[in-house]
Amino acid sequence: MPDDNGRLNPDSTLRPSAAVAIGHANPPNARRTGVGARSSRLADSRRLAARAAALANAQLDNLTDLQALLSDQPGLRATVTTADVHRQRLVRQHLRKVFDDVAAGQEQQVVQRLNTLLARYRVRPTITGTSPADWHISLAAPGTPSSVAYLAATVWGLAVWLCQRGIDRLGVCAEPHCHTVFLDHDSNRRRRFCSERCATRAHVRAHRARQRATRS
Ligand SMILES: [Zn+2]
Repeated sequence: MPDDNGRLNPDSTLRPSAAVAIGHANPPNARRTGVGARSSRLADSRRLAARAAALANAQLDNLTDLQALLSDQPGLRATVTTADVHRQRLVRQHLRKVFDDVAAGQEQQVVQRLNTLLARYRVRPTITGTSPADWHISLAAPGTPSSVAYLAATVWGLAVWLCQRGIDRLGVCAEPHCHTVFLDHDSNRRRRFCSERCATRAHVRAHRARQRATRS
């Protein structure tokens, strides 16, 4: 499956020896340059960070919810169990707190939480592949359960995003009662809402408040 930049997404096929992989060195039909490889790594951390935000927002009441979250990971989705629901729920809780701490300006807390998660779900980068055309970085050591490798890559992706893009790229929707988290891709770094829907709602409410103030 192509990623959001149209490149092949190495982990979409869930290679048996490496459930989570990044940075395909030589995608088909493209000779990768150094610059290209760097942009690929950025694209991958963006995708993995987006996965972290999706997990933070996910409903995880049961196994069906987890399988829905893993809709783009057919191999992993087929093998997850109730134990994985509990594990993912725990990580979701920590990831939510990361975003909440960002919103509260608790920068040191953000770093501590992510470091705790990184220590719990360690990545162990390894070059794998059967030929130079297939070489890629796997974030998990061979033998790591796919569900654990998935979480390790997810946490790593958010940590990389934070360090590469900055803390103001993590957001919590400003619309009351929404509380959806998001990654801010806007060039002006001023995104406040998770969606157009929430932004419209807030603008309508502000407009009505101004009208009431004008009338009174
Ligand atoms: Zn919202």
